[in-house]
Amino acid sequence: MPGIEYVMFRLMRMFRGLPINPLSVGNQKTIFLEYFKNFDKVKAVQGIFGEKTTEVLSNLKVEFSWLKGYMYVDGADGHLVISKEYLNKGDKKEIYLDLIHELCHVKQFMEGKELFDPTYDYVDRPTEIEAYRYAVQEARRIGFTEERLRCYLRTEWMSDDDFERLAKAVNVSL
Ligand SMILES: [Zn+2]
Repeated sequence: MPGIEYVMFRLMRMFRGLPINPLSVGNQKTIFLEYFKNFDKVKAVQGIFGEKTTEVLSNLKVEFSWLKGYMYVDGADGHLVISKEYLNKGDKKEIYLDLIHELCHVKQFMEGKELFDPTYDYVDRPTEIEAYRYAVQEARRIGFTEERLRCYLRTEWMSDDDFERLAKAVNVSL
């Protein structure tokens, strides 16, 4: 689940301006399409980037992080950061949906949108709602039930009220 994005943003902001980002030390980096092979052939991904899908994924950097958590897009340069532990141990379908969600953020970043606009709460932020809506649509297509969707949307740090607002915004029944 991409909920870790919120926490990471606060951490990243603390480290911005340092010559070395302590969160990145020792992390491996690669190109998205070299690790997630054939992702440019996935319809849901083509739905995000259109004709530029292969080009974008061939240029997108991925960083594998020792941090626990899920994944997020780095607000400084738009590369994707993924927890190694989550990638190894997480539910494969949820990882796939998280990738779809994060690729929406990659596109938003390329369009110059502010991914972490602090004037909104996480669950109300237009960039999040757009990414969640797209991931929910794909989740339904691969067979997620409403109950599984609710589990997917809910993160540890989310209050009942936040969760209800998010579910409503992305049309998942409560
Ligand atoms: Zn997000």
